[in-house]
Amino acid sequence: MPGELRCPLCERALEFSPRPEPCPRCRVPGTFFPTGAGLSGKAPGGQGIWRFREFFPPATPLSLGEGDTPVVESERLGPALGVRLHFKLEGANPTGSFKDRGASVLVAVLREFGVRKVAADSSGNAGAALAAYAARAGIQATVFVPAHASEKKLRQIEAYGGKLVRVDGPRPRATVEAKAACERDPELVYASHNESPYFLAGLRSLAYELAEQLAGQELEHVLVPVGGGALFLGLYYGFRELEAAGLLAKAPRLHLVQARVCAPLASAWEAGEREPKPVDVGTTVAEGVCIPAPPRGQEILAALRTIGGTAVVVEDAEILSAWSRLAREEGLYVEPTSAVAVAGLFSLVRRGEVRPGESVVIPLTGSGLKAS
Ligand SMILES: [Zn+2]
Repeated sequence: MPGELRCPLCERALEFSPRPEPCPRCRVPGTFFPTGAGLSGKAPGGQGIWRFREFFPPATPLSLGEGDTPVVESERLGPALGVRLHFKLEGANPTGSFKDRGASVLVAVLREFGVRKVAADSSGNAGAALAAYAARAGIQATVFVPAHASEKKLRQIEAYGGKLVRVDGPRPRATVEAKAACERDPELVYASHNESPYFLAGLRSLAYELAEQLAGQELEHVLVPVGGGALFLGLYYGFRELEAAGLLAKAPRLHLVQARVCAPLASAWEAGEREPKPVDVGTTVAEGVCIPAPPRGQEILAALRTIGGTAVVVEDAEILSAWSRLAREEGLYVEPTSAVAVAGLFSLVRRGEVRPGESVVIPLTGSGLKAS
């Protein structure tokens, strides 16, 4: 076993299973911690995220060519803000978003356990990623989507053979319905991008790739749009492991950015609380980060304290402005959710949290081609 499943808060060992139980004491999802030989410092052979398989739960690789996404330097926004800014283009993944990193590992692990049917709730990108990897693995996927999800994403899920269940009402209804379906059908396994430790494990690859691609350059700030927070936590654990292995002088500060209408983590951060309170949400252009009660909330807030980051809230008008500037000034067409972190950078520069000359990386999480 190249690692263990533990509670991220009290470190209690949890059972490695297709349906990993939350910590019985803390009631939070478990996290996979690799105990492998350690990062060697040399780029491992092969391609994509499975180069890093010794840091994933044990599974035969299941790949569509995810990972190894390009890093490009900002031509205009960075210079305009006086910072050294790089983007990591996660829309270049096979289904068009960073979620492929997590879905690849999650479905590979479930296939190893002999799982035949999976269900998840998603506003679109995670559902598309799950449906694609499930198709590859010969597993039936059912995706519970909120009624407001992008039609293009829904068509993509169906094209992969995923079964769509539209759920009226606010986003959390889709989660409730997906879990209820898994309770009714003992063969149906809940494969959540917000809860599964296997999904989260695959996102560490983003930190490992960034460290390779920007080797020799200082890495001071990374800004992340946060809904369920798997991307934030994947980067956090990945960078901390690199730092512990001596491959990175210092982990960058990670900052989380949320949209005003759904900012439970940023609100908890500002109030100095350790646990987010669920919020009522309105609608936002950033549908991908609209998780009113993130299951990993306490883990994220603890990580934010440890890594010396901060939380930022941005308005929809700021998100749309950043989205437009990315396209017009950089030639980067992303979905509005990806622009959340860019809007957050403007705010952090104004607040003096990011200072002139410092280096910033923003993962642009998904392609604009499938946004509404
Ligand atoms: Zn615990």
